[in-house]
Amino acid sequence: MTAGTVTGAGTTPDQLQVAEVFGPTVQGEGPSLGRRAVFVRLMRCNLTCKRCDTPETWDASRFDLHARTTSMPVPDLVSWALAQPVDLVVITGGEPFIQQRRLVPLVQALSDAGRRVEIETNGTVVPLPELAAHAWFNVSPKVGVFGASDPESKRIKPAALRTLQQTGRAVFKFVITKPDDLDDVARLADEHGLTSIWCMPEGTTPADVVDGPRAWADDAIARGFHVTTRLHVLLWDDAPGR
Ligand code: SF4
Repeated sequence: MTAGTVTGAGTTPDQLQVAEVFGPTVQGEGPSLGRRAVFVRLMRCNLTCKRCDTPETWDASRFDLHARTTSMPVPDLVSWALAQPVDLVVITGGEPFIQQRRLVPLVQALSDAGRRVEIETNGTVVPLPELAAHAWFNVSPKVGVFGASDPESKRIKPAALRTLQQTGRAVFKFVITKPDDLDDVARLADEHGLTSIWCMPEGTTPADVVDGPRAWADDAIARGFHVTTRLHVLLWDDAPGR
């Protein structure tokens, strides 16, 4: 298996719909920022964010999703990940929880082998207990302009947020596009009892990633939130496979 593999679809129950695998690289965002990692990016999403940086995983109006989907057996993914000389595996998307039942054996095998597994999710799906026992969650509810394409009732799911918070294994990472977004973050944290809040700039250029937080980082810190950059953008300008 090579990074960026793309072949036809035709998924069976023991396979995952994968967009790409890549690494070793570094986790570019959040509490594990800078840690060496490999990534598994899954297809499909249940939201339609206009500013999404991975629309090729879900937007059938612009991309041939069938051609971009590789149906990969879980054992092959386990073998590939364990052959990499890193202890962090990040499962991202798209929205990985759409395939969460098929994710269980992958996450369990990697965890049993001593790998830390982080799942990046938009926080709209209640996680299965089997996942909560083995994975860590980087949860990114959508707020402000970033979330404007979908109604709040679709992108904010209280039961899912509450369950993720209760796992004790979740951080909540919000993309901030303007300082006012922090009010939404504070409201959601209060309404849903979210702790470990991280604020992150939008942007696919180093200038965006550096300049954006200058307008809101002090306010975020004062409110008790953490601030993360996007290291992969600073290093590689958001190049594919990094
Ligand atoms: S939830 Fe994430 S993957 Fe889905 S459309 Fe929004 S930004 Fe893209």
